[in-house]
Amino acid sequence: MKTALITGASRGIGEAIARKFAKNGYNVVINYLNSREKAEKLANELNNGKVRAVAIRADIGDPVQAKILVKQTLEIFGRIDVLVNNAGISLTKLLIDTSSNEIENLMLTNLLGPIYVTKETLPSMISNNYGKIVNISSMWGNTGGSMETVYSASKGGIIAFTKAISKEVGFSNINVNCICPGMILTDMTSGYSIEDMKIIQDQTSLGRIGQPTDVAELAYFLASEEANYITGSVINVDGGFN
Ligand code: NAP
Repeated sequence: MKTALITGASRGIGEAIARKFAKNGYNVVINYLNSREKAEKLANELNNGKVRAVAIRADIGDPVQAKILVKQTLEIFGRIDVLVNNAGISLTKLLIDTSSNEIENLMLTNLLGPIYVTKETLPSMISNNYGKIVNISSMWGNTGGSMETVYSASKGGIIAFTKAISKEVGFSNINVNCICPGMILTDMTSGYSIEDMKIIQDQTSLGRIGQPTDVAELAYFLASEEANYITGSVINVDGGFN
């Protein structure tokens, strides 16, 4: 049975990804930072006798905790077939108003965290000669977003990281791809006013805001055997935002 480790799976897009993999027969690790109750409730719900779901707390921005997260996953399930680097935080303010602590914290979570977790996961994937890694970037990583400068930089870094690491590990039969979601309805976007949401919605070709399941469907596909010849790709799930 395959195992998927999903970072930041206690809510939002990560939760939808965990649900999708569990529903399709994967054991899942639901990584979380603060939302212990939500993560454990989700794990209990997904534990249906056919698959096993486990909630593990770890701050992915701390290399020691990232290492322990992967170690615990391997101790419980023996292998990691799929890693989804989803955990992330947002920050909406002018760069000149942003403190160095805020910059460091965001970069640790959004850019260094996925690098740490991937680094720890790769040895077991390499020895299995099999692995699928899906990184969650953002449309702002492609285009840059005003008032989202540090966030955009972190997500642009994820795109470059995806392309580079896919070249390092392709010969080990490991696929690494990246999803750039547009505006998706989660806690992260709950601070947007109705007016701002409407403006963004009107900038999409499909005329709607996305749902976490829109992203989960692509993450699942990229981890499937149907996507075996796709690697180093960056794919938008943004309703045609422009
Ligand atoms: P969300 O609803 O705010 O959920 C964020 C998740 O990340 C939570 O499970 C949270 O865990 C976890 N997390 C945060 N910091 C962490 C850390 N240091 N270590 C481990 N887990 C951590 O966010 P979302 O909207 O689902 O976003 C998921 C990903 O998609 C992020 O990378 C985000 O940048 C990206 N994205 C989102 C949108 C959007 O419109 N929503 C658009 C583009 C890209 P706790 O709850 O336990 O704190």
